[in-house]
Amino acid sequence: MKKSATILVSGGAGYIGSHTVWYLNQLGYRTIVFDNLSTGFRQDMLGDVNRIGDLQNPWDLKRLFLQEPIDAVIHFAANIAVGESVKEPLKYYRNNTVSLVNLLETMQASGVKKLVFSSTAAVYGNPVLCPISEDAPIAPVNPYGHSKAWGEQMLRDCASAYGMDFVALRYFNACGKAPATHLGEKHDPETHLIPLVLDAVAGRRPPLKVFGNDYNTLDGTCIRDYVHVLDLAQAHELALQKMGDGGSFSAFNLGNGQGHSVLEVIRAVEEICQKPVPFEFAARREGDPAVLVASSAKAKEKLGWKPKFESLQSIIKTLVQ
Ligand code: UDP
Repeated sequence: MKKSATILVSGGAGYIGSHTVWYLNQLGYRTIVFDNLSTGFRQDMLGDVNRIGDLQNPWDLKRLFLQEPIDAVIHFAANIAVGESVKEPLKYYRNNTVSLVNLLETMQASGVKKLVFSSTAAVYGNPVLCPISEDAPIAPVNPYGHSKAWGEQMLRDCASAYGMDFVALRYFNACGKAPATHLGEKHDPETHLIPLVLDAVAGRRPPLKVFGNDYNTLDGTCIRDYVHVLDLAQAHELALQKMGDGGSFSAFNLGNGQGHSVLEVIRAVEEICQKPVPFEFAARREGDPAVLVASSAKAKEKLGWKPKFESLQSIIKTLVQ
């Protein structure tokens, strides 16, 4: 795909979407952001074209595909909070799964055949082996994970039925920001660990609640694999370049291959900020697996992915500059 290609970015006003648009713009792509602003921000719409519209509304989509020449789609638009998905599963099945049907139908009708899909480590549920490779069983333990696993299955089926090409990128824990930009993680309500730890250390919130200290891990808290949002952006561009040519589906894990417990994240922030993080232990959060650590060997080998922010410290430092 040429670096001048036009890329439709659904959910391009959100955290990972806006960083990816920023990254694609630097490389010369023409970007179209499509977002309903339910969780994204108007000021983070950095596309050459910016459209407010809803994937639930097939007319919004049809109009867009009729008006713009689209070479490929990167589909970020989704709800992403594990805990919320347990309480409101239908919201996740509508916004993550039904929306994808609408998008695929419009692509198929318009002859647009290439899509990069935001997937997640949550498709693996409680993995038997860590680090997790892509051939590990797909066994989600919460509705968010199910909504994404079903999305991936739809892509597999559409690849073989319609000759479309798909890459699913299974993100582990996205964090960090593009330095010297106004972009950043600002979910409302914020549920992700690193922004909450930074808020707690700065006194912007009450003490952090550490969800569970009785997991079967070294310090009893959950272990995750934190990966920088710009490294995720890089992988999306590589996926566009390396995508198959008719009837392909492939999935790649994106993580740094290093697990950090919640207490280790707290300690890393304390070291960087030279201040104690106020926190207290609380009950486990429903739907949380104990350990999620990626093997990203496949992304490195097949996509040529080279993450630039491999240590937790280097990621957190992009947030405190
Ligand atoms: N976590 C926590 N307190 C919080 C938010 C998150 O202890 O206020 C824990 C959470 O239980 C998980 C880890 O931090 O073990 C990462 O959670 P996050 O929501 O950032 O990402 P997820 O792994 O759910 O995608």
